[in-house]
Amino acid sequence: MRPIRIGIIGFGKIAADQHVPSIEADPRLELAATSSRSGQGVATTYSDWRKLLDEVEGLEAVAITTPPSVRYEIARTAIEKGLHVLLEKPPAVTLSEVEELSCLAEAKGVTLFATWHARHNPAVSAAAQALAGKRIAEMRIVWHEDVHKWHPGQHWIWEPGGFGVFDPGINAFSIATAIFPGALFVRSAELSFPANADTPIAAEIAFASDVADGALSCSLDWRRTEGEEWTIEITTANDQSVRLTDGGARLSIDGVDQQASGPGEYPGIYREFVDLIDQRRSSVDLRPLRIVADCFLASCRRVVDSVAM
Ligand code: NAP
Repeated sequence: MRPIRIGIIGFGKIAADQHVPSIEADPRLELAATSSRSGQGVATTYSDWRKLLDEVEGLEAVAITTPPSVRYEIARTAIEKGLHVLLEKPPAVTLSEVEELSCLAEAKGVTLFATWHARHNPAVSAAAQALAGKRIAEMRIVWHEDVHKWHPGQHWIWEPGGFGVFDPGINAFSIATAIFPGALFVRSAELSFPANADTPIAAEIAFASDVADGALSCSLDWRRTEGEEWTIEITTANDQSVRLTDGGARLSIDGVDQQASGPGEYPGIYREFVDLIDQRRSSVDLRPLRIVADCFLASCRRVVDSVAM
């Protein structure tokens, strides 16, 4: 079968590290063009995404890997042109934007795929299976990393719509909503904003759930200077410990490492995207973004030291 011709809009770290190799390794896809304002990219490169959409012959799909603030406009234009659209996480800045894109994609009969890359770790599905139908005693999420190591030179993370520490934190929420055996609600949150930024550098969150009896807590922090920790630990009411580490890559149950295999995060994303296109379906799960929005609605605010940008 003829491969689907796809373009990448927003050619930065994640496009180069993950999207390009995953597309190139998938025989059902053909990378036709890329776009970034500076003209960086591979294949045919554009400095204006509108030209990419207008000029690439036989284009059927786009992956949008820009910062989230510009995704809605790009996605809307692409859908209106009848293209299938893959959105990096977070899918857009607001819930309303994503809901609007979903309606438009349905009306145009194209696929909209709001990806949550961390969920494509095979250990995440194994954790969900282990927790299915269980009552929960406690959950602790720790997502701590050094912003200067993981986001060097990225000013957009500190601007409105840049998400701050929720940019990595939404990965934790994407895993938690996939494995937790019931709905999670934000009960309270404390957000720490650097004096010179519009987005938080740290967040302490308390959740509630009808299937849980004890504390459900989450700590996101970008001020860690050595190493990183991306851990979700859930203890069930019958005292089973389910622990995901390395951002969802590794699973241990009651202290015993579990083996899980699969294509991996980004190859898995593109496999699912092509399957969705074949089946004329969309996949848009808003729960991780809703948790971020609820944190802003339910939070108190602290101002902390300015951050070097
Ligand atoms: P990045 O390195 O800053 O890259 C973003 C790219 O988008 C830049 O190269 C920028 O190039 C381009 N861009 C910005 N505005 C644009 C516009 N209006 N039109 C076209 N291109 C535009 O950021 P990133 O780390 O790749 O992150 C991008 C997204 O991927 C974020 O939502 C992030 O959460 C997600 N993500 C990142 C990682 C990671 O490890 N970095 C992992 C998973 C997901 P120009 O300035 O030249 O336009």
